Amino acid sequence: MVEVTLRLDQIAALGRRPRGTAPVDTHRHIPGSVLRGALAASWIAQYGPPQQADPAARDHFLRLFEGQVRYGPLLDADSDVVPLSVLRCKYRPKKECEQFSCDQADPGRSARQPECDTCGGRTQSGRGEVEFFGVDDHIVQETHVRLDERERAEEGLLFTRRALRPRRDGVRRVFTGRIVTPPGEPVDPWLLQARPLRVGGRRSTAGGALYDAEDLPAPAPDPAFLVTKGCLIVRLISPAFLVDAAGRPTSRPDTGLLSELLGVDVTLDRAWVRRESIGGWNTLTNLPKPAELAVTAGSVFRLALGSTPTAEGLRRLLDHGLGLRRAEGFGWIALGPWRMPRPAAVQRTPQKEDMASGIARQVHDYLSEDSAWYLDKLHTCLTLRRRGQQPDLTFLESKRAEKLAGLRQGILERDLRALATGDLRMLEKAVAELQARVRKERSW
Ligand SMILES: [Zn+2]
Repeated sequence: MVEVTLRLDQIAALGRRPRGTAPVDTHRHIPGSVLRGALAASWIAQYGPPQQADPAARDHFLRLFEGQVRYGPLLDADSDVVPLSVLRCKYRPKKECEQFSCDQADPGRSARQPECDTCGGRTQSGRGEVEFFGVDDHIVQETHVRLDERERAEEGLLFTRRALRPRRDGVRRVFTGRIVTPPGEPVDPWLLQARPLRVGGRRSTAGGALYDAEDLPAPAPDPAFLVTKGCLIVRLISPAFLVDAAGRPTSRPDTGLLSELLGVDVTLDRAWVRRESIGGWNTLTNLPKPAELAVTAGSVFRLALGSTPTAEGLRRLLDHGLGLRRAEGFGWIALGPWRMPRPAAVQRTPQKEDMASGIARQVHDYLSEDSAWYLDKLHTCLTLRRRGQQPDLTFLESKRAEKLAGLRQGILERDLRALATGDLRMLEKAVAELQARVRKERSW
């Protein structure tokens, strides 16, 4: 699995289809289709158009962009797609109202329609949009003179569009996400090279970004955490093209395929779905594709399972996704009930995260199955240190910590040692942050 970081260096207008004379809105994230298009453009800038390239280079292009490589949506850590099944306070008269959410798809919830637990007011369902939590999304509205095909100003025509600011709260805006490559094959080294990319509007002064990627082991989803009362919640975080056996658009996932991926019997228990019509872009011919009917991001399927799937089964489903055109950035899913991102829970340092936050994040993300165990061990080190004793580092030599040595060329292991023996405040902070992460647990 390839973990992608995209740092925005310029303002970016990630246009969405305008409605009438309304301003052209921007996406609040980098859709997988945009990431794929930007990388394909970068490949073409490097090697020339694939149609004219030699067969080996053309194959390389097709393998990367028209094959089984899947480009996922990139999100700001303080934002998420709010699913259609999630109720939030409608009018939010109090600041605390922002914190209220209830996922109706969660089988652990009561069936009763809830009220906001702060103001007691009415709730409304999520719209499947990317929203920011507790922070401003830093969208700007710009008015431009409309340009003709040769980028000359057309007389008297103004248009307004929204764009993402490159900085958010004084810090470069960073989006993260994943690229999934075919199982059992090494990751194409081309995908792991850092490179400048241009996203969104094609002006020379907009959309500049820095792409960086790392090949990491995919975190193992935890069946005990994700499956409740025999149900698994599948949330779409990008639109999906679902079709029935005859190839016609449908709003239900193929339960036969889901059973195959998960390795257990699957029936659809309940769905929260909306549909939209979406076009596309053929990177090879550089021509638009006709619009097709898709199920929107934020749609939710609650699956009833015959038995509990394995972590591998859940991973297979996550990597596979749902529906057609999955190589184009569609059909990405997350599992489990929706949880609101809580930016305030994680301390931020401007510019770059410090050692404590970095270690907490990495232990949580790369050692997800064992993150609670590492938390326990670090907590023991902290207790000993507070008593003025030496930290107990034997856990780093234990069988359970074996895979740590193979991760990130051993850097994380070295950092853990340095953390346990170094500045006590750093150790305190890392333990607190890892605790917060283990508690809130992201579902994918
Ligand atoms: Zn409220």
